[in-house]
Amino acid sequence: MGSDCLFCRIVAGEIPATIVRETATTLAFRDIQPKAPVHVLVVPKEHYADVATLAQGDPALSAEVLATAAAVAEDEGLTGDGFRLLFNTGAYGGQEVFHVHAHLLGGAPLGPMLARDLA
Ligand code: AMP
Repeated sequence: MGSDCLFCRIVAGEIPATIVRETATTLAFRDIQPKAPVHVLVVPKEHYADVATLAQGDPALSAEVLATAAAVAEDEGLTGDGFRLLFNTGAYGGQEVFHVHAHLLGGAPLGPMLARDLA
């Protein structure tokens, strides 16, 4: 990917971000429009479009993304009260940036998982 991908450009340091954790293979940075007191995005440095592609293409890297998210949750003091970790995927999932990212949300009660019931 590269120049066309927003999160590849953040990984490359071409676009500024508030980075909270970096490993050899992952980067965690604050969401520019936070939906909770803590809202951090965790990405693999290597480009994968979504979580399904990542999981199938590099299971070990998937685990590293989860491990980074867990470490950030600990750093941000979220482990006691809990948090939400989610991957929006595709059109119905509301994905807007097609470089896989985990949303780590916490710092307050987050309410129901979805805005509306389907029943
Ligand atoms: P999604 O809808 O799951 O693809 O989420 C994309 C997320 O990226 C949204 O929560 C945006 O607020 C966030 N976002 C977009 N641009 C930036 C940026 N430059 N730095 C940090 N977060 C961003």
